[in-house]
Amino acid sequence: MAVTDYDVDLFVIGGGSGGVRAARVAAQHGARVMVAEEYRVGGTCVIRGCVPKKLLVYASRFRGEFEDAAGYGWTVPQSSFDWPTLIANKDKEIARLEAAYTATLEKTGVAIVKTRAVITDPNVVQLADGKRVRARYILIATGGTPTYGDPVPGIEHAISSNEAFHLSQLPKHLVIQGGGYIAIEFAGIFAGLGSQVTVVYRGENILRGFDDDVRAHVRMDMEKHGIKVLVGCKIAAIERTEKRFSVLLSGGNRATADCVMFATGRTPNVSKVGLKEAGVAIAANGGVAVDEYSRSSVSNIYAVGDVTNRVNLTPVAVREGHAFADTVFGGKKVAVDHANVPTAVFSDPEVGAIGLTEAQARARLARTDIYREMFKPLKATLSGRDTTVLMKLVVDGVTDRVVGCHIVGEGAAEMVQVATIAITMGAKKADFDAAMALHPTAAEELVTMRQKSASYAREAAE
Ligand code: NDP
Repeated sequence: MAVTDYDVDLFVIGGGSGGVRAARVAAQHGARVMVAEEYRVGGTCVIRGCVPKKLLVYASRFRGEFEDAAGYGWTVPQSSFDWPTLIANKDKEIARLEAAYTATLEKTGVAIVKTRAVITDPNVVQLADGKRVRARYILIATGGTPTYGDPVPGIEHAISSNEAFHLSQLPKHLVIQGGGYIAIEFAGIFAGLGSQVTVVYRGENILRGFDDDVRAHVRMDMEKHGIKVLVGCKIAAIERTEKRFSVLLSGGNRATADCVMFATGRTPNVSKVGLKEAGVAIAANGGVAVDEYSRSSVSNIYAVGDVTNRVNLTPVAVREGHAFADTVFGGKKVAVDHANVPTAVFSDPEVGAIGLTEAQARARLARTDIYREMFKPLKATLSGRDTTVLMKLVVDGVTDRVVGCHIVGEGAAEMVQVATIAITMGAKKADFDAAMALHPTAAEELVTMRQKSASYAREAAE
């Protein structure tokens, strides 16, 4: 079939962060592009993920600001919070963003179809109305969906983060299952807004995968803020009582809740897209199997973002989408480097992290140096708030390169984004030391930590 026989050069299934970036850049490279989105343009991040979540995080932090103000001489009148106002304002902003995303695509000449699309042949996509579109390339950017883990009796009463953004009222008592990003962020949001929150986590400590000092620090501060963190247990059943739920835990204890949320991970949206029919291979991690250029096992079908289950973060999906478009339509092969991806948990307290944890470094490097400080932030002196900031640099003791930076406290994510530049450039501890401090800031600690708190040689393998 000659190239001119195709209706489009690129058909993108999924209008989220990765799909939208790929579509726009491909169109800018001259490709004829169509995007199918069955829900709302913007995808998880814009519609029911990062963006609305961060707005809710901002809302939740006013409680602390009002409390802290007294030490600085302010009298704050009795504050009150109205959940419907927050949700309505958030919805307005999300609608504005959705329109902006749509307009940007249309301005670059991308056709948007608001429908489900299924691959029926490696070069054919069928829309819900039966229309068939012949595409030279297909990009799968269908993202992921919350998963509820093992089924438990009464699971139908539980919500996921999708529904948390649209609750009609603020829960008085909320039980959240999970100890990852979503559980810990929503625990902070709802506690800040006034809910009594219990986190139920199956492992030893929350935020598995983060540095152990970070995990301990976050949990300690969450508990200081009144969030109950139950570890080593799971929700065994959810029973409806008159107006609320009785939540049975695996150890036999019970918790009462008017809302039960599961934040137990997300699975890639690989079903009902026609992948099997088209011969697209699925990897062991459940995502579409792709090479370094995001190409699937079918040569003209690519996949980016959460559906590939590589690093499930928005900026990574955006990079992958951009690299795909440059590779296929821009005449420039670009592979995305998945090393040194910074990450943040917008919990209370906030976490920012990049690179190796102490445990990872000690397992991989011949020598690991640790620089670690915990200090009371200046702002907390007059406010009297019982909080400390944790800062930790993990350094390769042989090369002096900073291989990890982990921060817990106000502004952690902002600080780690900037530290990411230095670490990506291969900065050494000596470069951090040579940087002039900016006083008084929390970030200055990053360039003034002189005293190693520990140094480890890798133990010889048995
Ligand atoms: P995570 O993978 O971060 O956490 C899932 C949590 O659920 C873990 O604590 C896990 O425990 C627990 N869990 C999994 N299965 C079960 C089960 N069957 N029973 C009990 N507990 C279980 O997923 P999230 O849902 O929190 O977030 C999904 C993804 O979204 C994240 O991985 C991240 O990529 C992205 N995200 C990023 C954010 C950010 O960048 N700030 C914010 C929100 C989401 P265990 O640790 O034992 O495996």
